[in-house]
Amino acid sequence: MKKPNGILVIVSGPSGAGKSTIISRVSRQRDDIRFSVSATTRKPREGETDGKDYYFKTREEFRDMIRANAFLEYAEYVGNSYGTPAAPVEESLAAGYNVILDIEVQGAAQVMEKRPDAVSVFLFPPSLEELERRLRSRGTDTEEKIRERLLTARREYAQADQYGYIIINDDADVAVRQLDAIITAEKCRSKYILEGENRL
Ligand code: ADP
Ligand code: 5GP
Repeated sequence: MKKPNGILVIVSGPSGAGKSTIISRVSRQRDDIRFSVSATTRKPREGETDGKDYYFKTREEFRDMIRANAFLEYAEYVGNSYGTPAAPVEESLAAGYNVILDIEVQGAAQVMEKRPDAVSVFLFPPSLEELERRLRSRGTDTEEKIRERLLTARREYAQADQYGYIIINDDADVAVRQLDAIITAEKCRSKYILEGENRL
């Protein structure tokens, strides 16, 4: 049997909901996942590594990537540009890895349009109050940026019905199990096993 292509998993949700936390925990416990490293014009936070958390780019470098058609999707978010480099995603999927995209709602809509087979998951925090607490406790954003991120969260909530799955990240252990289960269930779809590239 030919090694099946991987599945493409979109994870969105307001900043501070816990996307990075949950994705990195699921990735650590499975060896069939690759995280898609995005490009961004945002400045690195303390502890972030270029090429691992993001590819940190100047505005000009980012524009060049757009011109070169290098992105699967890209969007503006709270004053900065973010985009998913297309080539590594395609290569990883072809090699049989499941690829997780941690992207905001406008970029997610572009991927859903281009790749209707993508699995989409919206991660909610238990409440807006808890979201604010998490953003503050993370200690990475200025007061102004926290306010902007909270305002954006309200708009993002309205897009949750576009997603195939919803996870409420109250207890992180439960959220990790749920994301893991979604990926496992999607890999077991008969369509996925029996059709196209993955047929027996
Ligand atoms: P995002 O990637 O969605 O912006 P992070 O993963 O950076 O969010 O999480 C924001 C903050 O909330 C971090 O300090 C993280 O440790 C914390 N956090 C994540 N999940 C939980 C949870 N289930 N309970 C409590 N705190 C959490
Ligand atoms: P942060 O600045 O907190 O790392 O990310 C801010 C927002 O940008 C998050 O909602 C995150 O999901 C989103 N994001 C990260 N990478 C990308 C990307 O490549 N494309 C899009 N559209 N959004 C991204």
